[in-house]
Amino acid sequence: MMESFGQKAIEQEAELIVGEVVSISHSSERVNSITLTDSTRIYCDSIVNGAGTRGDQIAAMTGLKIPVEPRKRTTFVFKSSNSPQGNAAIGNGKLPLMIDSSRVFCRPEGDAFLADISPDPDKETDPDDLGPVYDQFEDIWINLADRSKNFEANKMLSCWAEHYDYNTSDQNAIVGLHGQISHFYFANGFPVMDFSRRR
Ligand SMILES: Cc1cc2nc3c(=O)[nH]c(=O)nc-3n(C[C@H](O)[C@H](O)[C@H](O)COP(=O)(O)OP(=O)(O)OC[C@H]3O[C@@H](n4cnc5c(N)ncnc54)[C@H](O)[C@@H]3O)c2cc1C
Repeated sequence: MMESFGQKAIEQEAELIVGEVVSISHSSERVNSITLTDSTRIYCDSIVNGAGTRGDQIAAMTGLKIPVEPRKRTTFVFKSSNSPQGNAAIGNGKLPLMIDSSRVFCRPEGDAFLADISPDPDKETDPDDLGPVYDQFEDIWINLADRSKNFEANKMLSCWAEHYDYNTSDQNAIVGLHGQISHFYFANGFPVMDFSRRR
């Protein structure tokens, strides 16, 4: 979907420049330019901070703070051999996406299942740390087996870690113009749908 948005923007004469922003030039009132790692300076009327888990780093380039931290989730793909066909046919393959009060998320994925768990405590992580937390599979397994004996014999097939940008203030997105530095827009703090932890 994002590629489609990008393609449409290019078709409408937007210029795509790939690079890492390392600094933002600004006055007390407005942003002026950004500088990339290769020292390219791009003058601009407006800046949108859409840097995901590094949104706080971009804000800090203008001396601002936003309450956004990277949080890690490890996603596991597993098969469940106790189910009638030894796969995601539990519930005749009609299981919906489940978000359990044990903080486990699980849904069918092809003939397997995909699951993760919100760790407790859910600590800030280094944005470069993408190592899976393998131990969490046991927590997922125990909690799912507690719900249904069909989930007692699970075999992990693969896993990977991802980060999302967590708003420590109220877990909601931070969207719109900054009140002091004009022309500086924010689109940060988009979390996973972590209903079991929402207040
Ligand atoms: C396990 C997991 C499951 C999820 N499930 C769902 C779901 O089911 N539904 C849902 O709606 N959302 C889900 N999300 C959340 C969703 O993935 C995020 O909300 C979304 O990706 C955020 O998009 P974004 O564009 O704000 O940030 P990102 O997609 O993180 O993009 C930020 C971009 O900024 C770039 N960047 C960072 N720093 C710099 C810099 N200094 N210079 C230049 N570029 C920079 C990065 O390289 C990246 O390309 C899930 C997230 C996780 C981790």
